[in-house]
Amino acid sequence: MTLVAGNRERLRIALYGAVQGVGFRPFVYRLATEMGLNGTVLNSSAGLIVEVEGCRPDLDVFLKRLEAERPAAAVVLARETSLLVPAGYTRFEILSSDEAAEKTTAILPDLATCPQCLAELLDPTNRRFQYPFTNCTQCGPRYSIILDIPYDRPRTTMRGFQLCPECAREYADPADRRFHAQPNACPTCGPQLSMGIRETAHAIQAGRIVALKGIGGFQLLVDAANEEAVSHLRRLKHREEKPFALMMPSLEKVREYCQVSPEEETLLRSPAAPVVLLRPRGASSLAPNVAHNSPYLGVMLPYSPLHHLLMRECPIPIVATSGNRSDEPIAIDNDEARARLDGIAEVFLMHDRPIARPCDDSVARVTRGRESVLRRARGYAPLPVRSARELPAVLAVGAHLKNAVAIAVGRQVFLSQHVGDLDTVESRAAFEKAIEDLCRLYRFQPEMVACDLHPDYASTHWALHSGLPLVKVQHHHAHVAACAAENDVTGPYLGVSWDGAGYGLDGTVWGGEFFLFENGRFERIAHLRPFRLPGGEAAIREGWRSAASLLYETEGPQAVQDPVIRRMLERSVNSPLSSSVGRLFDAASSIAGVAQESRFEGQAAMLLERAIGDLDTSESYRLPEGDWAPLIDAIRRDVETSVACEMIAARFHNALANWIAAVARRAGLRDVAMSGGVFQNAYLVERAASLLQQRGHRVYTHQRVPPNDGGIALGQAVLAGG
Ligand code: ZN
Ligand code: ZN
Ligand code: FE
Repeated sequence: MTLVAGNRERLRIALYGAVQGVGFRPFVYRLATEMGLNGTVLNSSAGLIVEVEGCRPDLDVFLKRLEAERPAAAVVLARETSLLVPAGYTRFEILSSDEAAEKTTAILPDLATCPQCLAELLDPTNRRFQYPFTNCTQCGPRYSIILDIPYDRPRTTMRGFQLCPECAREYADPADRRFHAQPNACPTCGPQLSMGIRETAHAIQAGRIVALKGIGGFQLLVDAANEEAVSHLRRLKHREEKPFALMMPSLEKVREYCQVSPEEETLLRSPAAPVVLLRPRGASSLAPNVAHNSPYLGVMLPYSPLHHLLMRECPIPIVATSGNRSDEPIAIDNDEARARLDGIAEVFLMHDRPIARPCDDSVARVTRGRESVLRRARGYAPLPVRSARELPAVLAVGAHLKNAVAIAVGRQVFLSQHVGDLDTVESRAAFEKAIEDLCRLYRFQPEMVACDLHPDYASTHWALHSGLPLVKVQHHHAHVAACAAENDVTGPYLGVSWDGAGYGLDGTVWGGEFFLFENGRFERIAHLRPFRLPGGEAAIREGWRSAASLLYETEGPQAVQDPVIRRMLERSVNSPLSSSVGRLFDAASSIAGVAQESRFEGQAAMLLERAIGDLDTSESYRLPEGDWAPLIDAIRRDVETSVACEMIAARFHNALANWIAAVARRAGLRDVAMSGGVFQNAYLVERAASLLQQRGHRVYTHQRVPPNDGGIALGQAVLAGG
């Protein structure tokens, strides 16, 4: 086998389940050596870690064969993969466990219905025909039903259901697919629905809002082609324009509405079954208010037997959004759902299997040919990310928006499910419960707590009152540290940390930062030229404020029409300084006439990305050393001379990518890690990465952990540890 040097990658596969003591390591060794791939296999405390190096097609074949040819006794219950830079292995080695002292067992995530269970579900001769709680050891609920460890039926929310003789036989038979399947159930002995599935399907098709009790919480469902029903849902949920996720009955249906690459297909059909961001195919029968002008549609396939059955009765795209009002946690309990969703949903499809903890649908996409998780919840949580070194027992409490928490155990960092924004009493209660829950499940005693530097984050407040030794971690340091950690990069590296806002070391609002990371220290080597945000927080929603500020600076006071804003800028009142690239996006979007406001976080930037369309150009504005003045002047000129919006948008994005490449060249570092909410912008990521790679840099972007504030806890845990 010939391997093209330079195109080599290291594939890391973390396997969880019954993979120890079943001849798995010798099997991996034989497979890798047969394929001529070097690497390692290691028994870690939480699972089996396989690493092989080679070119991408060989790695893909290896992964397929690992799945297909594994020892019969091995049961792989969950798997996560990352593509890393080669470690330069010269042979294949079986490593002995490096952490025998730790006895942490991974708690597994909820997994989508497997093909065998689906076949039984649809087979009229099977005793589980149309039974919506069918599962086996390969699939079904896990994290959403576990109450305590060890994972055993009496310690799950299935404890109230007595196995019938037939189910008990399956459960006790080592040769059966349901041997020790804790949530095992059948129509005789298991959970039951509160109403008929056909009736529910009719309600959806009649334009009604349905609350469905899913795996990790309630979902609100509505016909995605019914504009009136969708707008009704938006009004009741207080969700203005943020795109809704869709569930579609089949992959064929998804293809009717979206472009689907092979990698995206794999992701859609994976056991995690996340919402996948896909490019829409243009004109469609979907109501325009499902995703407004978003460049992507978030689509998932049915992932539980209940969803499969419902989508068969109702084979149309449906909106499937979390069962809550905006800013509140997802409802999980029947009575709670009745109370909290009262006035939103008209029909409640419930059941009597309790949900142990909320776990939203996850969101992922494919960027740079790799999976990138944007919201880590159902299907992923609470699997760990492996750290390059041992960490002390740190509890990391994350940021304020898109909060998630983490605990470090040896070399594993266990990440909680997405908790959400900590603006409401309910969400702060959910945050505290997530901490308590994670610590209890893993029998974890924190020695210290890591939090953000921001004094006003609810998570920081909690940390301050925890009574534990405290480590404050700067927000943008945490972003790039999270990216470096999950990519196994120890430094030195250049960290590019761009987002909407984070508390800077100098007390100003940061968000356009470059750091040199070396020997455990960050040096801020470049940043966006700071500008004032008139009205402070109000500028987040009203992007025209950032535009006014930049025009004030470049053209003078007369460029600002609004007298209040002008006075704010003249006197520097209530106008904090910021180096945020997120706010620069808002300003550019406003001046280009694309969006004056954001109805949800990042909307103006998303619309500017969408404005590029299919335009392929390397034309760019100038952004010398992060000074936006020439860029703002040029956008103004382009708008005045009626340059096409797509060109303005492309030149803007290219300017940012070029700036990253310029700083990377000056820094003279090979490794570049990009993190922060701005890097949810696929165009910017692809552009910057390809420029950097052309110039010989190695580029690291997020895979398992979100680039947005959902990844902050991982960075905090890693940095607090040393
Ligand atoms: Zn199954
Ligand atoms: Zn039964
Ligand atoms: Fe951030």
